[in-house]
Amino acid sequence: MTDDRVVVALDVGGTGMKCAVVRPDGVVVRAERHPTDAARGPAAVVGTILDVAEGLADKARADGLTPIAVGIAVPGVVDEARGVAVWSANVGFRDVPVRDLAVARLGLPTALGHDVRAGGLAEARLGAGRGSGHVLFVAIGTGIAAAHVVDGMAVVGAHGAAGEIGHILVRPDGPRCGCGRPGCLEAVASAAAIGRRYAELAGQSADAAVTAAEVAEPPVTAAEVAQRAATGEPLAGQVWREAIDALADGLASGQALFDVATIVLGGGLAQAGDWLLTPLRAAMRDRMTFHREPQLVAAALGDEAGCLGAALLALDAVGVRDHQEKR
Ligand SMILES: [Zn+2]
Repeated sequence: MTDDRVVVALDVGGTGMKCAVVRPDGVVVRAERHPTDAARGPAAVVGTILDVAEGLADKARADGLTPIAVGIAVPGVVDEARGVAVWSANVGFRDVPVRDLAVARLGLPTALGHDVRAGGLAEARLGAGRGSGHVLFVAIGTGIAAAHVVDGMAVVGAHGAAGEIGHILVRPDGPRCGCGRPGCLEAVASAAAIGRRYAELAGQSADAAVTAAEVAEPPVTAAEVAQRAATGEPLAGQVWREAIDALADGLASGQALFDVATIVLGGGLAQAGDWLLTPLRAAMRDRMTFHREPQLVAAALGDEAGCLGAALLALDAVGVRDHQEKR
């Protein structure tokens, strides 16, 4: 039997939207990217989401396929049960009923999900966590957020805000976080925080190997700090070690709470690969007492994870699970 069923999936970020038409087996048959242009305001962003989703459904039909559902992933606080984007700093959503708007416009069952939870769902079912029943996906980029996935379902929380591992307190006397409190994990160990810390220390230290002028323009990224640390630059080594220690503290708290089989690291910082994974594994091992050490692996799906996860949410919404996931 040929299966012409597909779902339309969108992963909406502050700057861009990753969009795709996806078969029930998880294969992407069409992929598109569109600017979000969040500065236009939430109403315009929702208009673009609906236009893009309708356009993809029309293109699928023109290709002889049958769209059966829509999945949309957005950042911030998401009430998945009601299909409402409750709050988002970088897209500007405040209580936007995205699901109902999409159903009205496209006439298809629609699932609304959280971007990191969607990414975690995809990594757990189709990517680096495949085969593990209990997965913690941790995205480390500008911020740090996580998704706890159990048997292929991401835990949402009572208020749509589960998985905010970036706001675990790791350094009470540390730098202030975007949430207002000092010492959160993401204020110490996000890619953005690592770059900031390096610039700060380089600026303070007159005898540092790198001058403040060198780091000021352009700012040193976390990936560059990792590279400089690997080549033996003492300042970069110090900053990288501090970040690894803080990440290990945060992940050890995660492991104490969730006892997962696998921790999948995604986001920009995971591209540091073994420079991140090898010392982080050792630091995690140091912190395990009676808890079992989780497997620590890099994400496999790159920046398409959120979009694939949105497709899985859409398939779940209509009860279709054809992709060959294994528990
Ligand atoms: Zn915080």
